[in-house]
This record gives sequence, C-alpha cells and structure tokens, in this order.
Amino acid sequence: MNGIGAIHPQLKALNLFQALPCDARGQYLPPFAPPAPQPAPPTHGQDPAAWAPFASRLEFDFADYHFVQLQTSEGKLCKALDLWAASVMPYGGTAPWKDAAELYAVIDSIQAGDMPWSTYEMRYTGELPAGTPPKWMTQTYEVCARNLRDVLHHQLESAGFKDCIDMVPYQQFNHDRHRVWSNLMSADWAWKQADLISADPTTHGCAFVPIVAGSDKTTVSVATGHQEYHPVYASPGNLTGPARRTHGNGVLPVAFLAIPKTSKRHRRTPAFQRFCRQMYHASLALIYEPLKAYMTRPDIVRCPDGHLRRVIYGIGPYIADYPEQVWLATIVQNWCPKCDAMPANLDAENARLRSRTKTEALITCFDPGILWDDYCIRADIVPFTNEFPRADIHELLSPDLLHQVIKGTFKDHLVSWVNEYLLLEHGEKRANEIIQDIDRRISAVPEFPGLRRFPDGRDFHQWTGDDSKALMKIYLGAVAGYLPSDMVKSLSSFMDFCYRVRRNTISTLDLTAINDALARFHHYRVVFICHGVRDDISLPRQHALIHYTCSIRLFGSPNGLCSSITESKHIKAVKEPWRRSSRFNALKQMLVTISRLDKIAALKSLFTARGMLSGTMSWYTAQVLAGEQPQIASVAAAAAAHDEDNDDGTVHGPKFLSVTELAPTPQRGYPKYLEALATHIHQPQFPLLFRRFLYEELHGPPDDDAPPIPIDSCPIFASRITVYHSAVARFYAPSDLGGAGGMYRERIRSNPNWHGYARRDTVLVNVGAAVMDGFIVGRVHLFFSFTFAGRVFECALVNWLIPIGDAPDPDTGMWVVELEHHRGAPTLEIIPVGAIARGCHLVGVYGRGPLPEEFHFSDSLDAFKTFFVNRYADHHMHEFLE
Ligand SMILES: [Zn+2]
Repeated sequence: MNGIGAIHPQLKALNLFQALPCDARGQYLPPFAPPAPQPAPPTHGQDPAAWAPFASRLEFDFADYHFVQLQTSEGKLCKALDLWAASVMPYGGTAPWKDAAELYAVIDSIQAGDMPWSTYEMRYTGELPAGTPPKWMTQTYEVCARNLRDVLHHQLESAGFKDCIDMVPYQQFNHDRHRVWSNLMSADWAWKQADLISADPTTHGCAFVPIVAGSDKTTVSVATGHQEYHPVYASPGNLTGPARRTHGNGVLPVAFLAIPKTSKRHRRTPAFQRFCRQMYHASLALIYEPLKAYMTRPDIVRCPDGHLRRVIYGIGPYIADYPEQVWLATIVQNWCPKCDAMPANLDAENARLRSRTKTEALITCFDPGILWDDYCIRADIVPFTNEFPRADIHELLSPDLLHQVIKGTFKDHLVSWVNEYLLLEHGEKRANEIIQDIDRRISAVPEFPGLRRFPDGRDFHQWTGDDSKALMKIYLGAVAGYLPSDMVKSLSSFMDFCYRVRRNTISTLDLTAINDALARFHHYRVVFICHGVRDDISLPRQHALIHYTCSIRLFGSPNGLCSSITESKHIKAVKEPWRRSSRFNALKQMLVTISRLDKIAALKSLFTARGMLSGTMSWYTAQVLAGEQPQIASVAAAAAAHDEDNDDGTVHGPKFLSVTELAPTPQRGYPKYLEALATHIHQPQFPLLFRRFLYEELHGPPDDDAPPIPIDSCPIFASRITVYHSAVARFYAPSDLGGAGGMYRERIRSNPNWHGYARRDTVLVNVGAAVMDGFIVGRVHLFFSFTFAGRVFECALVNWLIPIGDAPDPDTGMWVVELEHHRGAPTLEIIPVGAIARGCHLVGVYGRGPLPEEFHFSDSLDAFKTFFVNRYADHHMHEFLE
C-alpha cells in the first residue's frame, strides 16, 4: 500500500540553514529562541475589549450568523434587529445596532483580515486609426486588485496553518527509501529555487515563499443574458495540498481582471486580440508588482508558528485551463504551452520543452511572421513572468486535473467516443438501447459512501466536474460487456493513470506506474481510430498528460494545484457575493462583501484560536450570568460520529492507518439471547458459529487440516447480545477528501430497513489470502457485541465473496469475486469488527444482457453471480488494491 511513507516518514531531508526565525529588524534569533513577542491578546472572554470591535460574543455571533452563514439581506437584517430591540425593550435594553448599515460599519472596522481593494484604470495606448476609432480603443478598463503582499501576510500569519505549512523545501522518502512527492515544498522546483536564494549572501537563511496563483473566467446568469467575471486567486505555495484544497483562506481572491468587449466585427481583428492579451499580461504584472522588490531582498513576515522570518517571494505554479494557458504562454491556439510538438501530432516523441530563454532567443533571431508560423510564438506579447526574477511561464503552468483529465480526456473525449462507437457499430436504434441500458447499469450499483446516484440517467451536456468524477467511479463496470476488449483496456489504463496522478503522495514507483499506464492508454486508444470514431488523436488537453510526471517531480501532487480549487472558490468569491448585490454595477458591491466576509473569517479564527467561541451562545451566556469563567476547553467534535445518517466525512485528530468500531447506537427491537436472535435473523447456524467463535477466541484458531471442534467442547453463552446497524471505519485517505489531517470516516451498514429496503454492505477483510493483497470480501449480515469472560467483543456475521482466478480481470483491471459456498450453501462466519479494514464497493458483472427496466439497486448484491471489486470507488481503494 502506498501512502504509508507519508504517515511515518523514514527520512525527511531539510535544509536547516533556510527559513531561520528573526526579530522585527530581520536579525536572526539564536537557536531555540521563542518567537518575537506579539501584542498580548486579551484572554478573558468576558472582557468586552476582547471582542472588539464588537462589544460581546452575542454581537459577534449575530454578525457571523447573519452575514456569513445566512447571508441575510439588508432588509431582513433590519427586521431581525427590530425584533432584537423589541425583545429586550421590557428589560430596559436596546439592540446594539439600529439598522443594517450600523452593523456593516462595525464589520468594516474590523482590523483583522483587512485587505482593501483598489481600482486601476487601463486603456489602449497604441496608434489610433484614421477616422472614428473603434470604441475599445478609447474606452477605459478597470482592474480591481488587492495588494498581494497584504494577502500573503494575512495568509501566512494564520495560526490555523500551523500544522499544514512547510517554510523549508524538503525531500521525503518512504519506508522503501523511495522518494515521495506530495506538497509543493516536497518537490524539485521549490528546492532548486531555495538553493538559488541560499547561494546569495544577502538572502541566505531566508524562507522561500512561492505564490500559487490561478485564474478562471466564470459566468453568472442574469435575466438579460450572462455576466462574466475573471477572478485571480492566490495561495502561499508553502501550504500543504490538502490545506489549499480545504482551508477557507488558503486561497483568496486577489484581483478581478477586465474583460474587454467589442462588436462582432472587431472581435476577430488582430489589433483587438493583441490588446486583450497585452492588457491581460499587464494586469497580472500589476498584481505581482507589490512583491517584486521582495523577490530579491527579504520581506519580514509572521508565520503560523508565531515566528517572524525573512522571506523571499517567487512566482509559483499557475493554475489555468487550456484557453487561458494559451494566453499565458503567448502561443497560438492548438499548440502545447509546454513543448513545441506540432498540433497535427502533439504526442509525437521528438518534441522539446519550451523555455523562457529559448523563446527569447527565437524572438531575437526571427521576424514575427516566422515565429507565428513555425514556432507558434506570438512575438507581439511579452508574458508577465518576464518582468520578474526566476520565473518561466512554460515551466510554471501547472497540470490541471479537472480540465485535462476529468472533464477533458474522460468526459469530452472517452465517454463521447464510446457513445459514437456504439452508434457506428450498432446503428442508432440499437445504440440508444445500449446507452439506456448503460444508464440503468449505472443506477443499479449498490450504495457506497461518497458515491453519487444517477437516478434519472445522465444529461451529458449539463455535467460539472463533480458529475464526471462521480461517473468515473462506476463507468467501467457499466460499459464493460458492450465494448471490445481493447476499448475497455484503453478506458481502464486511462483510469489507472487518472487515479494515480490524483493521489496526494506519489512515489518514484508510482511515477513509473503512471508512465506505464499512459503508455498502455496510448497503445489501446488507437482502437477508436480503428473503429472509425476518430481520424487522429492530437488534442491539447489530452496531450497535456504527457507532461504530468515531469510536473509532479517539479511541483508535487497535481491534487494540490488543480483548477477545481479555483472553481470551487468561485462560489464564495463570485457567485454568492453577486447574488447579494443589486446586480447593477455589481462588482464594487461584491468586493465590499468579499472584504467583509474575509474580515469576519479572520476575526473568527482569532477568537477560535483563543478558545473564546466554545459552546453554544446560550450555554456561554448562562456561564457568564452564573459568574463563571466560560471553559475554554473545546466541545468534543464527536457528534458527527453519532449521527446515524452520516455516511462519510473528515475526522480530526491524529493519523492512524485504519480502525473499525461499531457505531455507538445499539438497536432496540432485537431479541437479546442467542437462539431467539438466530430465529429473528433467519440464520439457524448462528448459535453454532457463535460458540465456535468463542472457542477460537479462547484457544486460538485450529490448524487448517484439524477436524472441526465438537460443539460440546465450545463454551455455552447465555448472556445478552446487542445488535448495531452500522460500524465506522476510520483510515488515512488524504487523496480523497483532504481534511487538513487526511483522516477519513466511513460508515458500513447492515440494516434490515434502510429507507425501505435491506442494506447489507460489503467490506474488505485481511485474511492473509494469497491473492488480492491478502484481502477477501465479506458481506455483513449482522453487527453485534457481547461481553464474555470480562471482555467486550465487537463482531460481524459475514458471507464471503472470494476472488475468481489469481489476477484481476485483464480488461477492466478489477478483481472479480463470487459468493463462496460450502455444501451448497453460502459460507457464513463470525469475525471481529476490528478485522474489517474498510468498506468496499461491488459492481455486478453485467455481461451483455440488458437489465430489467424496474431493477432496483438494493437487489444488486443478490442478483448477480459475480462482481467487480470496484477499485475506482475512491482513491484509497485504488491504492489499497494495487
Ligand atoms: Zn507538450
């Protein structure tokens, strides 16, 4: 199993002469010195000054609840304040604010998280043509931006990042001494940059802070059409990938770029196109400008550990989808921004990597026409990175899992090509029947935590990235019987590539496996040409996969740099603020909303760090009224684990490999004693199995060839048995959900009436088998516990599903299992719950026949003879079953 190296690193090579703590004047502190003092925060939660600029916790909670959580409109906020005033009037009290405007003024006065927006005007400065120039040449454009240095200072000083930030680049090795790439700071590019900084005596000892940035246009719908925005986001590259993906202020909006518009007639003119691109690069240069001086001489910033450090900034990886990469790399459409492969055959092997030095050399040698035609370089635009030290845009364009792998190669290419193949092969009528059956098969898979249902078929055109990710988990099993072997192999090798590059930690061995998977994919995808679906396969987004292993060595796991991070930011940074605006000249109002949200978030994280927000508001008030100091101890976050409806989620706390326990909710309504329980669950063998289980627990398991233990030798059990409907497995799975700590909780169910049907989940149990990495599959018919000889036993009653053959299915790459029988009946066994590694997802081997129209997914595990062990159900499973 991979990933273990990340939990218990055997070796972590650090440069101890980098990122040294210093004082406010930049003098390095002696080793082990405490952080330079900060102004002491008021610690007493009841001291009104502690809540400034609010007067009390109630005021802060009210503002947070209405402004951040409910997003209450101004009118409704006034109403809520009026109700507040009325409720305290009988006691001679007043509401703290008479209307929403007064509350907004207090929010605006929060000092924490203050990163104001400025507006910069830009216009065309080239020659004007004779006569009336087009409007775009005379118009003024506005770029709204925050000071990027303010933003980074704010992010870097957040105490919440204390355990998920690396101020020094490092190299990590797993148990087998293989190098492991994960966060940006674990990879070669950051290491090389920090070396350059260390080599300079004026910056020796400084920390390197690369800026990960990303931009992406997004559209909000209005009655009269669409309104586009073009936000730019920034994040300190020192954060771990999971922290960047999940932590609120790990990625913040820093600018909104202008989107020049013109008439249809002018849109295609070279002059307008050049102007748009030049303004784009000028805007990006403007955003990075506040850092420019500190890219060669140190800035002093406070870090999450409380220490001040001298830091040197650098432009880091840039996240963008293909159309924007074309702009960034100043190349011509259809070419690759990273190499000089010809558009007609992008995946040819003789392509060479582009670089800033090469491009500059070409520009000095050739005239613009030749550059455009032969090298696809636009000499009329200079990339913004050229204005900054150590930055090469071709190198810095980061891999983009969402657009290149998930939406691109999977959805837009492979899924469409499969449908086109079915059409060409079977004609329209039969193809539609098959596609409908594939839809039914997709709907027929058993339930599994984190798995989305597609109950009403798939509306292909409306898909989001999340839809594609969800479909990817169950697609292969559903199409397997309908496609030629090579086509299934091309899909499974692509999926293998995809799941490997999406991991949070990628070892040297993984890099080899990624290259192998890509080579297999390239070999088998030719099947789409053979069947006439494609004339050729030379697609920029699919071609980008070729550059992944190189990018992983440079920047670590692509998971921490994906455009899904910027896309999900759009909700908080664009869509919600837009909805809250009056929709007229909305951007200025949106910026005010963003600033207020950031300020409240910053203050909240300060209060949380000081332990001032524990308990509910009424509990806190009761404590204050009783004259007691409210306890600072945090309220246990275990509540979610007790929630029977909750299937999955992140877990806070230390990392451990895997542990499974019964859920803490015993079920009433079951007989308490062995024989009666056996009758109730229709398992007459249960008492026998139970007593044998006890014997083995007391005496150890018998030898394989020993005769069965006579039942009379087994202990008699007459105490109570408690039944449960679920168990909870906890394991380390940072690639899937990326809670900052990476622990994941998964609920496994065995429930006779789960939303109207019986749900008996399947699990992986390590029995040390010779195949399937030692695991076999169990289907849980009962979870129960009892006490015997002073010990508490947590157990599961399972059927076994055992692998067919000694290797996975060659086409799909998935193991196939079938129910194990003994003397004509399914084998049944009692196992300790602790032996369950985690849940596992089975997909019926559908073959070539159609599913009945009314087939329900709850029958799936009983309806098929054989099942695929779905290694694509989540990333942890893919790593589990290599
Ligand atoms: Zn390329």
